[in-house]
Formats: sequence, structure tokens, C-alpha cells
Amino acid sequence: MGVRAVAIGGVTGGTSALAKAKRENPDLEAVIYEKGSHVSYGACGLPYVISGEIPSLEALVVRTPEAFKKSGIEVYTRHEVLEVDYENRTLKVLDHREGRVFTDRFDHLVLATGARPLIPPIPGVEQEGVYTLRSLEDGERILEALKKGARRAVILGAGYIGLEMAEAFRKRGLEVTLVEQAPRPLPQGEPEVSEIVKRELERHGVEVWTGTRALALRGMGRVEGVETTEGFIPGDLVLLAVGIRPNTLLAQSFGVALGPTGAIATDQRMRTNLPGVYAAGDVAESHHLLLGRPTWLPLGDVANKHGRTAGSAIAGREARFKGVVGTSIFKVFDLGVGMTGLSLEAALKEGSQAKKVFIQARDRAHYYPGGGALWVGLVYEEASGRLLGGSVVGPETSAKRVDVLAALLHQRGTVEDLEGLDLAYAPPFSPVWDPLLIAAQQAK
Ligand code: FAD
Ligand code: NAD
Repeated sequence: MGVRAVAIGGVTGGTSALAKAKRENPDLEAVIYEKGSHVSYGACGLPYVISGEIPSLEALVVRTPEAFKKSGIEVYTRHEVLEVDYENRTLKVLDHREGRVFTDRFDHLVLATGARPLIPPIPGVEQEGVYTLRSLEDGERILEALKKGARRAVILGAGYIGLEMAEAFRKRGLEVTLVEQAPRPLPQGEPEVSEIVKRELERHGVEVWTGTRALALRGMGRVEGVETTEGFIPGDLVLLAVGIRPNTLLAQSFGVALGPTGAIATDQRMRTNLPGVYAAGDVAESHHLLLGRPTWLPLGDVANKHGRTAGSAIAGREARFKGVVGTSIFKVFDLGVGMTGLSLEAALKEGSQAKKVFIQARDRAHYYPGGGALWVGLVYEEASGRLLGGSVVGPETSAKRVDVLAALLHQRGTVEDLEGLDLAYAPPFSPVWDPLLIAAQQAK
């Protein structure tokens, strides 16, 4: 019997772990069990298939089970791992196609069971016309609803999915109402960013109800709208986008320890407390380099890094995933929004004497056609000038400038370091003083 590595969950964390392990150690037996029908896809592209900008869900698939097989990795879809017997290094698997349960064994196990959408505890969520968005199957169901002529969408939650899907539904011609219980959309961002995002939503005909709690979904089996604290909103399609939770039950059932965030605790090699058991992707924590403690950052790029690191560890290599500073980016209509590090509110909560500047400039030279306003926010320690976080909002890809701030955060840089950076300039790309440099000058 050869050394056998098994991944539970086949989207990002599990597939990247086993692909890396197998590349590093071609003798390894590698098996992936996935309870859904699809593996290895970019869930991040779902809103753009639903908007019609990407022609099909198939386009999101990175690697098919057949392609995995060619590289020596066995992939079993519609196979759910029910139990893990850690002492005997075996697992019980339910084959949903055949309806039979069988036992497999492992030497290395990667927990990549991901996360699931939260379902708000309100009456009526079980009805037809109510959706969540996580998997390709969810995408299929929403596309089907659009084909059947859904006309009015109500989205609960103005976080990442809610905002991206508000755009997608508008592009498909639906009326859209966004309901957020916090006082502003994107409540984890700076208030200025929320305000700019709200204006962009309204400019594109999205109704934004903030400070609003959904009380019940009305309907007699088929949803007709949402009763909220601020009144009734009619709708024939309701998308629940109120956050996600890590799928940790299976891990907990055989003694894998969770960390303070409620996701699986790992070290820098993605090892859990049980030798031979790794965790990767949305089910696992990461180390926060600014806070110096574990955080939960359920993002696709992080899941890939987790998986690659776990795969290296399985193959006996020394790779380490050092951690995150909390960087994210998304698009809503014509705006790109990038955020990294801590918001002012989060920094103050940490006891830091933090300050913020928030400036508006342009994303390119004033005389160059196209482009538009670009906003930069910097959060920094008042005494030392150390950068703690930042936001960049502007025409689509211009927000990718946030990566400069993320790099500085990794290096524990200051606003003075930022001011001194030799950033690229030509009229189609930036004004002669890049807005990041203007913000740094103001902070100084
Ligand atoms: P998941 O994708 O949750 O996959 C886990 C898999 O495990 C599931 O398919 C599940 O069926 C399977 N599973 C669970 N339990 C078992 C079991 N017992 N047996 C067998 N299989 C099991 N991130 C970004 O960085 N940028 C973006 O722009 C972005 N956009 C997104 C847009 C949308 C609409 C969504 C939903 C997510 C987006 N993300 C984005 C997040 C990113 O997609 C996730 O971080 C990533 O998919 C996590 O991968 P994962 O493998 O850890 O988990
Ligand atoms: P989220 O945490 O981003 O947003 C959830 C929002 O719902 C929050 O604003 C919250 O205040 C609000 N909310 C919570 N309960 C509510 C209720 N009962 N009624 C109304 N509003 C309520 O979560 P999400 O949008 O579901 O996205 C899930 C995850 O997917 C994200 O955490 C992120 O990791 C990932 N994602 C990332 C991207 C990206 O990076 N571009 C895009 C899409 C999804």
C-alpha cells in the first residue's frame, strides 16, 4: 500500500492541496471526495455568469475530474464523507449516486469542507424563489429563475455577494432592492466607502434599504416579498446573502480543534492539532499579521495558498503560509473597491491611537480621456505613522492600487515610506502625483 492522501471537499482548498502534493510527490495516492456535482471551479465568477457577461457556468471550471485523473488524482463527485475514524485512519463515504456507504483509508487528510451560507432565522425562507449563492448548482438555480422570468429581486445583505449580485440582477433587467441591517452597505469598510458605494448603487437604479431588518418572507409556498422593520418589499426572487459560516462539524466530530474565530486552527504549514490532518480554505483560520492572532478570511486566493501549503507539507516540503493582512477587492457597476488591513473603527477597537485621511483625486491625468474620481483612505498610527489599513475606490481596475498598501502593511511600512515610493506614472494610468502619494502627503 502506498502513502494515501485524501481531501474532503473539492472546490479550492482540497484540489489545490492534492494537486501540489501530487506534483511534489508523484508516488502519492491522491483522492478527492466532493459531495456536490462539481469540483475545481471559480465560485468568484458566479455573479458574472448570472449577469450574462460570462456565457456559461462551465467557463468557471478550472479542472475537470477527467483532467485530475490524467495527473493521477482520483476525484469522486457526489461522494460525501460521513465519518472519520482518526485512530484507524479510515473514513466512511456515502456515494450519493449508488446510495451505498464504503470505507476508505488515509495517511494524510485535508479538511477542505469550506463554508455554507447563513440562513436568517425568519419565517418563509423555505419557499420557492428563495436562493443562496455558493456553488455552481446555486448558480444554475438562479439562472433558471431568470429564464422563467423573475422580475423583482430582493437581496438580504449588502456585503460582497449582495453588492456583486445587485449589479448582476440589474444587468439582467430586474428591479433590485438591497436590504442591509447595518446602517450602511459594506459595514466592514470605511463609512466614506459605504457612501460612495451607495451612490453608485442608486445611480444604477438599485433601491438601498439600510438599517432594515427582514422579519419574514411573505408567500404561500412561492415567495412574494419581504416583510421588514421598515415596510414590505415585493419580490419574486429573494437572495439571502447575509454571510457564511465554516463547515467544521465533521472536523469537530473526531477531535480537530477550532480556533477563536470558530474555524479550524492551523499552524503555518496548515497542520491541525491532529498529526496527519490538515485544513485548507474557508474552513480554516489564517494568521493575521497586523493583529498577531488568528483571523477568518474566507477568500479564494487565501484558499489557494492554504491548499498549496498543505500540499507541500504532505509531500514533506518546508513551505509556510505566513498570514494575511486582510486584503479584498470587488466591483460594483463602474466602481472597483479595494480594502486592506484595519478600518479606523477596527484599529481604534484594538486600542491603537489611529487616525485616517480620506482624499479624492483622479485615476489619470486630467487631460486624458476617460477615467474618473479615485478615492484613497489611509489608516495609520498617529505617533509612528505606521500604516494600519487603507481603501482605494475608483473606476474598476484602478482599485487594484490597494495592493501597494497591502505590500506596505506586510513590510510594516509608514505613511512616510508610502510617500517616498517610486510609483509608475503616465497620463493614461495616473496623475503625475499618484493619489496614493497625495494621501500619504496629507497623512504626514
Ligand atoms: P468551498 O468552495 O465551500 O468548497 C468546499 C466543498 O466541500 C463544497 O463543495 C462542499 O460540497 C464540500 N464538502 C463539505 N463537506 C463535505 C463532506 N463531508 N464530504 C464531501 N464534500 C464535502 N473570493 C475571492 O478571493 N475573491 C472573489 O472575488 C470572490 N468572489 C466570490 C463570489 C461568490 C459568489 C462566492 C460564493 C465566493 C466568492 N469568493 C471570492 C470566495 C471563494 O469562492 C471561496 O473562498 C472559495 O471558494 C473557498 O473554497 P473552499 O474549497 O475552501 O470551500
Ligand atoms: P458578507 O459577510 O460579506 O456580508 C453579509 C452582509 O449581510 C453584511 O453586510 C451584514 O451586515 C448583512 N446582514 C447580516 N444579517 C443580515 C440580515 N438578517 N438582514 C440583512 N442584512 C444582514 O457575506 P456575503 O456577502 O454573504 O459573502 C460571503 C463571503 O463570500 C464573504 O465573506 C467573502 O469571503 C466571499 N466573497 C468575496 C468576494 C470578493 O472578494 N470579491 C465576493 C463575493 C463573496
